[in-house]
Amino acid sequence: MDLRALELHELRELFKELGEPSYRGEQVFHWITCREAISFHEMTDLPKSLRSRLSELFSLELPEVIETKTDVDGTTKFAIKLKDGEVIESVLIPERDHYTLCVSTQVGCPIGCKFCLTGTMGFKRNLTTGEIISQVVIGRRYVKEKELELPLRNIVFMGMGEPLLNYENLLKALKILAHPKGFNYSKKRLTVSTVGIIEKIKKLAKDFPTALAISLHAPFDDLRRELIPIAVRYSVKDLIEVCREFPRIKNSRITVEYVLLRGINTDLKCAKRLAELLKGKVFKVNLIPFNPHPELPFERPTEEEIEAFQRYLLDRGILTTIRKSKGLNIRAACGQLRAEIQSAFN
Ligand code: SAH
Ligand code: SF4
Repeated sequence: MDLRALELHELRELFKELGEPSYRGEQVFHWITCREAISFHEMTDLPKSLRSRLSELFSLELPEVIETKTDVDGTTKFAIKLKDGEVIESVLIPERDHYTLCVSTQVGCPIGCKFCLTGTMGFKRNLTTGEIISQVVIGRRYVKEKELELPLRNIVFMGMGEPLLNYENLLKALKILAHPKGFNYSKKRLTVSTVGIIEKIKKLAKDFPTALAISLHAPFDDLRRELIPIAVRYSVKDLIEVCREFPRIKNSRITVEYVLLRGINTDLKCAKRLAELLKGKVFKVNLIPFNPHPELPFERPTEEEIEAFQRYLLDRGILTTIRKSKGLNIRAACGQLRAEIQSAFN
């Protein structure tokens, strides 16, 4: 059993079943979350005999980090090998006053977006809740070990995979990450990025609304369906509508991710339609200049094209930022480090 996959109430139950007082479960929850423990022997407020017993019953071993690459801008990418040998990625990104950790939710991805390396890799399996949480523990331990100045404050589910297609494990991970007696991440600082699985967005809205990002990439259904095969099931209009109803924490905005692909979705027609779709104060746009890779048939627009697209939206009152290409030198785009490691092995 992976204790990192358990919520506080489940750990309390487990300790009762072990014949221990339930508050021991609460102590262990504290240690394995915000204290990032990797062994029971660290848990100095537990009796020695209990620590030994727990060590025999459970393992707190983390998945192995097989490669760590840091770019000059401070972006660090971890390639993490899971128990069954599959490799996933997490990326630690420095911001002005904190770090953001980008975590994976699946090995590969079943959606198959045409511009995404993870998408071209196909789908292997869902990550367990424990594997999702382990990435956070790995990131936090790294920040501590390297004595980095800034706190790891934001978690974004923008690594490999489609989070909402691994709904139950994601939901549990979100609850563990937000629990005040554990990691205590504010829900505003947990961002679920989705390609737009409408029924699951509605479910998240009811179950545990965190911050939301949607990967729109095109304002027209036909173009969007060319880029994102699953979009045949969802119209742009319905997707935007369901987002407008999503509960937002303190009126924070929903992020619309828009990968800029040269000559594909960067023309005036797209900008105009996008501005119409997103008018009001619900959304902000994050433009992501395409991160090229030899296996992907697209080009990155020029700086002028990128800025013109942003300018058009800004002039129409749409909050619009351009994602800086952090970690370009270490291939920090979705799926790229894993792909490199795999081709090195094959
Ligand atoms: N599956 C979810 C979350 C993971 S992908 C989703 O699609 O939202 C996270 C983001 O990375 C998406 O917005 C995706 O469009 C973007 N992305 C994928 N490949 C990219 C590339 N080659 N260049 C730039 N952005 C890319
Ligand atoms: Fe999957 Fe997101 Fe990549 Fe699309 S962009 S293939 S949904 S990981």
